[in-house]
Amino acid sequence: MLQIYNSLSKKKQQFAPIDPNNVRMYVCGMTVYDYCHVGHARAMVVFDVVYRYLRRIYGKGHVTYVRNITDIDDKIIARAHENHEDIDMLTARFIQEMYQDGDLLGVLRPDHEPRATQHIDEIIGMIKTLMTKGLAYAKPDSDVYYDVSAFKQYGALSGKHLDELRSVDRVVVDDKKDDPLDRVLWKLAKPGEPSWDSPWGAGRPGWDIECSAMATHCLGEHFDIHGGGLDLQFPHHENEIAQSEGASGETFVNFWMHNGHVRVDNEKMSKSLGNFFTIREVLAKYNPEVIRYFIVNSHYRSPLNYSDQHLENAKSGLTTLYTALRGLPLEESVTNTGSNGFSSRFAAAMDDDFNTPIAMAVLFDIAGECNKLKEHDVPQALKLGVQLKQLGALLGLLQCEPDDFLQGVIASGEGGVTVDQIEALIEQRNQARHAKDFQASDRIRQELAGQGVVLEDGAGGGTTWRRE
Ligand SMILES: [Zn+2]
Repeated sequence: MLQIYNSLSKKKQQFAPIDPNNVRMYVCGMTVYDYCHVGHARAMVVFDVVYRYLRRIYGKGHVTYVRNITDIDDKIIARAHENHEDIDMLTARFIQEMYQDGDLLGVLRPDHEPRATQHIDEIIGMIKTLMTKGLAYAKPDSDVYYDVSAFKQYGALSGKHLDELRSVDRVVVDDKKDDPLDRVLWKLAKPGEPSWDSPWGAGRPGWDIECSAMATHCLGEHFDIHGGGLDLQFPHHENEIAQSEGASGETFVNFWMHNGHVRVDNEKMSKSLGNFFTIREVLAKYNPEVIRYFIVNSHYRSPLNYSDQHLENAKSGLTTLYTALRGLPLEESVTNTGSNGFSSRFAAAMDDDFNTPIAMAVLFDIAGECNKLKEHDVPQALKLGVQLKQLGALLGLLQCEPDDFLQGVIASGEGGVTVDQIEALIEQRNQARHAKDFQASDRIRQELAGQGVVLEDGAGGGTTWRRE
């Protein structure tokens, strides 16, 4: 039975969907004005694994995953202005870049990706409801605000109390607001800014109400899981709860899930520290599955420490797993692996709040067993190989051809000797060996070793190779 750590109750709880025929999950998506960074990669991959696993349990057509796209906000307006670029062009461009990164990382596309600018009516509708209920207010010629003091449970998710929050000095006092903590629902447009008409004047939605309205529109007033990065817990998610529950009078979400921060060499990742990496930059150095492996090898709630050493470790871990699959006729196999000790251990790990590091350890146990069996029981080894690939797929791993991965065909930017050159040298070496010119054959082996290419001569006389 699946247990999920619920950030709201602060404990692991047994997950029971409201409707097992339609498990509903909403995750806060990207604000599209720049390339996605490693922090975005983590959130995308973490909730992709959750999505894959829920589909495994409840069936493919019985999970609805919604991830929004914030395509209007202050940062977008500022960047478009800086670039002398049309806002729609800027956001369309970075939506495509986001897809490119996500697709490469094997992130399945969500079922719905609502965009803020396409749901202005629903957003205005929800603000109207909050106004009618006396939970929102606007002073003359001012933005519209949500009155946090009117929502009794405010602070329940983040464990913060209103008085404690008000005493924090970074809260800016604004005479348009009754309370410095009140969050903007509708922001009036300055001259030249994009805007939509509303009963309170031309303007644009605040970010929190955008998620409240789109989640409700796509999934209903009460759904199963809401996810996002830990940095969104307060104030964004706290406000989503206050607004949605304020408007509907119902519980908004049963399970809140938050993934941990990404750190770089044990420091906070930030542009000012110069240790900020886009997904694009990391993909230039590593196969996408190496990045995915690195992400799922940590539990989603733990901090994730990015370093070259951790990426190198991920690469060697994946090399071990792919080496076990190498040489097995996986593509010809239609074996149904059934359940065994490995599959039940894997499921137990995933059922325990998506404990992917333990699930990964099971993959290594299968790989070890597979390597042993390859020598004397190929049908059994094949069965395990298929199981390894199937369980790997739940984490979005082991989906390349083993040879392609091991030979670095997919990795870009690795430089050095090409596949054609390697194969030509292996052919020369075979001829040398055939002619019993072992000096020449050793020289070629060493030459390739110098380029990081390892040759493995099989029992049948064939030679396979991989990059170190
Ligand atoms: Zn959100």
